[in-house]
Amino acid sequence: MVKQEFKAESKRLLEMMINSIYTQREIFLRELISNASDAIDKIYYKALTDDNIAFNAADYFVKITADKENRTLTLADTGIGMTREELETNLGVIAKSGSLSFKKENESKDGHNIIGQFGVGFYAAFMVADRVTVTSRALGSAEAFQWESEGADGYTIVPADKAAVGTEIVLHIKPNTEDDNYDEFLEEYRLRAIVKKYSDFIRYPIKMDIKGQRPKADAAEGAEPEFESYVEEQTINSMVPIWRKNKSELTDADYEQFYHEKRYGFDKPLKHIHISADGAVVYRAILYVPESTPFDYYTKEFEKGLELYSNGVLIMDKCADLLPDYFSFVKGMVDSEDLSLNISREMLQHDRQLTLIAKNIKNKIKSTLLSLLKDERDNYEKFYKSFGRQLKFGVYGDYGMNKDVLQDLLLFHSSKENKLVSLDEYIARMPEDQKFIYYASGSSIERIEKLPQTELVSDKGYEILYFTDDIDEFAIKSIMTYKEKTFKSVSSGDLGIEPDADDDKPEAEEAGSKALFEQMQTLLGGKVTKVKASKRLKSHPVCLTSEGELSIEMEKILSAMPNNENVHAEKVLEINVNHPVFQSLKEAAEKDNEKLNLYTQLLYNQALLIEGLPIQDPVAFTNDICKVMV
Ligand code: ADP
Repeated sequence: MVKQEFKAESKRLLEMMINSIYTQREIFLRELISNASDAIDKIYYKALTDDNIAFNAADYFVKITADKENRTLTLADTGIGMTREELETNLGVIAKSGSLSFKKENESKDGHNIIGQFGVGFYAAFMVADRVTVTSRALGSAEAFQWESEGADGYTIVPADKAAVGTEIVLHIKPNTEDDNYDEFLEEYRLRAIVKKYSDFIRYPIKMDIKGQRPKADAAEGAEPEFESYVEEQTINSMVPIWRKNKSELTDADYEQFYHEKRYGFDKPLKHIHISADGAVVYRAILYVPESTPFDYYTKEFEKGLELYSNGVLIMDKCADLLPDYFSFVKGMVDSEDLSLNISREMLQHDRQLTLIAKNIKNKIKSTLLSLLKDERDNYEKFYKSFGRQLKFGVYGDYGMNKDVLQDLLLFHSSKENKLVSLDEYIARMPEDQKFIYYASGSSIERIEKLPQTELVSDKGYEILYFTDDIDEFAIKSIMTYKEKTFKSVSSGDLGIEPDADDDKPEAEEAGSKALFEQMQTLLGGKVTKVKASKRLKSHPVCLTSEGELSIEMEKILSAMPNNENVHAEKVLEINVNHPVFQSLKEAAEKDNEKLNLYTQLLYNQALLIEGLPIQDPVAFTNDICKVMV
């Protein structure tokens, strides 16, 4: 008997497989089961066109048998089998299955992990076995052959006896070592768990002899029950996955059960999406919009992604490429026949099918969320409470590239309705003379409601969006305009509102009291870029506003960040010239410079407090108040 050498490439891969430490050795079973299932598929397709072959479903299955005494694990299938030549070419070379190019790409990286996630084929058997014997009889052949190998050395092929068409693979399981336990691959419960994990949805039954104990039937009444062992053949896989079923066959409860079975979350999902696409790319998917935020959602630890199946076989737990970051909350799975099992992570990124699927999924999620917003407002608001922040990050991220996808999904608290409104709803009820979409920022709704800057806009009867999330104003700056309306902060220099015709005082004082305002600015020593007569204040004496791109709210957020670059908003101190305080200022300016300084500092510090900004010297501030009192 002449031992044949493996082709050079095969030898390298084999050595790598055998010598590396695999965290996921268990995937050998997935690989062998997938091969067996493919082999049965081949008979099935032949039977479709060849009347001489009867395809009787009951005859086609995979059987797994563990023999602890002899340390063998046997996988027998009733598939199409292999001829001598096929044993030689299929099991003697592996380059053609794509495994080799995959190996080269990943050799220096976290190779063992990737091997766990992607197909490596038949050779995975050598991760757990030191000898593999394959006996096969091809369809239409009276002869059978036996292929055997102990790994890198090579293999032998000899004639053999096999009654039925199909393939039987015997793995001689390695002995345990100090570090590695191989016994587990002879344990019934362990094998069953591996099949469930990776191969639950293989179309054909995967059978195992399950041993059990039962009370003896003929035990005498009243006597201690006697037990007997029995062996029963069971099918361990569920075969038809829920995503292959018709939507009409399934209830909400079915989808919910799948969500929990898969441990996508512990909550009750708000919405499921069942996709069955037969267009440019063929795939099925079940996606979920969860209700509550996972505890690690807004941390670095959170990993987005969907489970990826290739034709019913799990190839990846979390395929990140299937979800944009702004929809990272979506859970679920995708199954496509167009994806190869032997695909590396790098190849996956450039896979055209996968890109198409991802694009499809993105659109589907968007339209689902939009209809949730339209038809199930309460549920949408629940969703928004959990994940709205992520959508806003999405608008802001990537230089605003995704704002078109996301802007219709945003909600903000409204001054008018005291509840969340969409931008669309805001625009729809804008009075005709209103030119801008107004917003006010602050740490809470209660605080914003009291901001003096909102006075003029509210008096006009215009609605104001309340921004309480630190990302809000940044996100809005990325959107800039929505349906041709520009966003405007109530604290911005020009509000775009014509002052009341009967109130020309600010205008007049701006010119008439120019010297006073300049003097006040000097007294504040560069803390503000301007002091001016306010056109927006009605009852409050004073407020701070900003000129330029950076608002005071944004300054607050940026300066709270680590490594902040000490950015400052251009602040303007606005004085209400209709307020009696203005008269006091004027009088002080005429008679008593010290008093003017005192009043100016007080007003400035008050404006800071209203804005929620810290005052530089609180002791001086309280002393100043006392000076006014005595
Ligand atoms: P891949 O499955 O990716 O092609 P493998 O190394 O797993 O690579 O298998 C190589 C080839 O061997 C398969 O393509 C198939 O033709 C053949 N083969 C493997 N297992 C079986 C089996 N149980 N029955 C019939 N053919 C098989």
